[in-house]
Amino acid sequence: MATDCIFCKIIKGESPANFVYKDDDMVVFHNIRPSAPVHVLIVPVEHIESVNALQERHSAIISTMMLKSKEIARTLGIQDSGYKLVINVGSGGGQVIFHLHIHLIGGWGAKV
Ligand SMILES: [Zn+2]
Repeated sequence: MATDCIFCKIIKGESPANFVYKDDDMVVFHNIRPSAPVHVLIVPVEHIESVNALQERHSAIISTMMLKSKEIARTLGIQDSGYKLVINVGSGGGQVIFHLHIHLIGGWGAKV
Protein backbone atom coordinates (compact mmCIF):
# COMPACT_ATOMS: atom_id res chain seq x y z
CA MET A 1 0.00 0.00 0.00
CA ALA A 2 1.51 3.30 -1.08
CA THR A 3 0.09 6.26 0.85
CA ASP A 4 0.51 8.77 -1.97
CA CYS A 5 -1.07 6.54 -4.60
CA ILE A 6 -4.45 7.74 -5.89
CA PHE A 7 -5.58 4.22 -6.77
CA CYS A 8 -4.73 2.95 -3.26
CA LYS A 9 -6.76 5.87 -1.87
CA ILE A 10 -9.70 4.96 -4.12
CA ILE A 11 -9.45 1.31 -3.02
CA LYS A 12 -9.43 2.38 0.65
CA GLY A 13 -12.41 4.66 0.08
CA GLU A 14 -10.39 7.81 0.78
CA SER A 15 -10.95 9.18 -2.74
CA PRO A 16 -14.22 8.94 -4.66
CA ALA A 17 -14.71 6.77 -7.72
CA ASN A 18 -17.61 5.46 -9.74
CA PHE A 19 -17.21 1.71 -9.19
CA VAL A 20 -18.39 -0.87 -11.68
CA TYR A 21 -17.10 -3.87 -9.71
CA LYS A 22 -15.30 -4.55 -6.44
CA ASP A 23 -14.04 -7.62 -4.58
CA ASP A 24 -11.18 -8.48 -2.22
CA ASP A 25 -8.61 -8.74 -5.01
CA MET A 26 -9.56 -6.18 -7.62
CA VAL A 27 -11.70 -3.14 -8.32
CA VAL A 28 -13.07 -1.63 -11.52
CA PHE A 29 -14.10 2.01 -11.81
CA HIS A 30 -14.74 4.63 -14.48
CA ASN A 31 -11.76 6.69 -15.64
CA ILE A 32 -12.35 10.33 -14.63
CA ARG A 33 -10.82 11.40 -17.96
CA PRO A 34 -12.34 8.91 -20.41
CA SER A 35 -10.80 8.65 -23.88
CA ALA A 36 -13.80 6.74 -25.28
CA PRO A 37 -17.57 6.43 -24.62
CA VAL A 38 -16.73 3.56 -22.22
CA HIS A 39 -13.43 3.73 -20.36
CA VAL A 40 -12.98 1.84 -17.11
CA LEU A 41 -9.87 0.83 -15.20
CA ILE A 42 -9.33 -2.69 -13.87
CA VAL A 43 -7.06 -2.39 -10.84
CA PRO A 44 -5.59 -4.97 -8.45
CA VAL A 45 -6.09 -4.17 -4.74
CA GLU A 46 -2.41 -4.89 -4.13
CA HIS A 47 -0.17 -1.96 -5.00
CA ILE A 48 1.90 -3.29 -7.90
CA GLU A 49 3.78 -0.47 -9.62
CA SER A 50 3.61 -1.74 -13.19
CA VAL A 51 3.97 -4.80 -15.39
CA ASN A 52 7.71 -4.44 -14.77
CA ALA A 53 7.10 -5.12 -11.07
CA LEU A 54 5.11 -8.32 -11.65
CA GLN A 55 6.39 -11.47 -9.99
CA GLU A 56 5.45 -15.12 -10.26
CA ARG A 57 3.14 -14.81 -7.22
CA HIS A 58 1.02 -12.29 -9.15
CA SER A 59 0.02 -14.80 -11.82
CA ALA A 60 -3.36 -15.50 -10.20
CA ILE A 61 -4.44 -11.86 -9.92
CA ILE A 62 -3.33 -11.02 -13.46
CA SER A 63 -5.26 -14.00 -14.75
CA THR A 64 -8.32 -13.00 -12.71
CA MET A 65 -8.19 -9.42 -14.03
CA MET A 66 -8.01 -10.65 -17.62
CA LEU A 67 -10.87 -13.10 -17.16
CA LYS A 68 -12.99 -10.50 -15.38
CA SER A 69 -12.49 -7.99 -18.20
CA LYS A 70 -14.90 -9.79 -20.53
CA GLU A 71 -17.55 -9.89 -17.79
CA ILE A 72 -17.09 -6.18 -17.20
CA ALA A 73 -17.37 -5.58 -20.97
CA ARG A 74 -20.63 -7.53 -20.96
CA THR A 75 -21.92 -5.57 -17.96
CA LEU A 76 -21.12 -2.32 -19.78
CA GLY A 77 -22.84 -3.53 -22.95
CA ILE A 78 -19.75 -3.54 -25.20
CA GLN A 79 -18.80 -7.23 -25.22
CA ASP A 80 -20.27 -7.84 -28.67
CA SER A 81 -19.41 -4.49 -30.31
CA GLY A 82 -15.80 -4.92 -29.23
CA TYR A 83 -13.28 -3.15 -27.03
CA LYS A 84 -9.60 -2.68 -26.31
CA LEU A 85 -7.62 -3.83 -23.28
CA VAL A 86 -4.56 -1.65 -22.82
CA ILE A 87 -1.76 -1.70 -20.25
CA ASN A 88 0.66 1.21 -20.35
CA VAL A 89 4.06 0.45 -18.85
CA GLY A 90 6.34 3.22 -17.60
CA SER A 91 6.21 6.91 -18.42
CA GLY A 92 7.52 6.29 -21.94
CA GLY A 93 4.67 3.82 -22.40
CA GLY A 94 2.07 6.36 -21.33
CA GLN A 95 1.61 5.14 -17.76
CA VAL A 96 0.46 8.04 -15.57
CA ILE A 97 -0.59 6.31 -12.35
CA PHE A 98 2.08 3.94 -11.08
CA HIS A 99 -0.32 1.33 -9.77
CA LEU A 100 -0.86 -1.39 -12.36
CA HIS A 101 -4.15 -1.19 -14.25
CA ILE A 102 -5.82 -2.41 -17.40
CA HIS A 103 -7.74 0.15 -19.47
CA LEU A 104 -10.97 -1.35 -20.84
CA ILE A 105 -11.99 0.98 -23.65
CA GLY A 106 -14.88 0.82 -26.10
CA GLY A 107 -18.39 1.92 -26.86
CA TRP A 108 -17.74 3.22 -30.36
CA GLY A 109 -20.16 0.68 -31.85
CA ALA A 110 -19.43 -2.25 -34.11
CA LYS A 111 -17.75 -1.64 -37.46
CA VAL A 112 -19.89 -2.70 -40.43
ZN1 LIG B 1 -1.45 2.02 -5.29
